[in-house]
Amino acid sequence: METLAQHLAETLKALRAQRKWSLTQAAEQSGVSKAMLGQIERGESSPTVATLWKIATGFAVPFSLFITPPSRSPAVTHFREGERPPFRQQNAQMRVTPLADFDPLLGFDLLAIEFSAGAFSESSPHAPGVTEHVVVISGALEVQVAQRWYSLRSGEVLRFNADVPHAYRNNSSEPVLIHDLIHYPRADETAC
Ligand code: MN
Repeated sequence: METLAQHLAETLKALRAQRKWSLTQAAEQSGVSKAMLGQIERGESSPTVATLWKIATGFAVPFSLFITPPSRSPAVTHFREGERPPFRQQNAQMRVTPLADFDPLLGFDLLAIEFSAGAFSESSPHAPGVTEHVVVISGALEVQVAQRWYSLRSGEVLRFNADVPHAYRNNSSEPVLIHDLIHYPRADETAC
């Protein structure tokens, strides 16, 4: 089985080939440097979650594409634990695991995200119309949306338009587990 770095490399190369974008064009679209994109394509870099999000937004693809291939689900799909590899950030503050494969007709990602004690992660704006639902499963998390901080406890949900700068912070001494349901609008929904 290929490693996550290899999967990232293949996915980025395939996307760039589909779009017929040079590294320079991909850098302009994503806001990620040419040097970094080149390193990812050679499997030499472990990007952060924030960097992967910039690339996903620049190419208008779901975040989970960089971890697991999308699929059209049959009527019933049982997604089991451990089938999809987690994406671990190098500083180990964040671990992201898709709980289900992305289905293009349904248009959402369902991610489990673990933040270690003291973790802080800033996200650049996602594409217009992208909505996040942060569902706290265990622990307490603070989420910043457009300059304002929201304190969430387990069982609580924050739904927000994610096309603005936002951030996640675990100020507690315990790890936090959340589920993040990210809805992506279809191209025909953003046209008007
Ligand atoms: Mn986000």
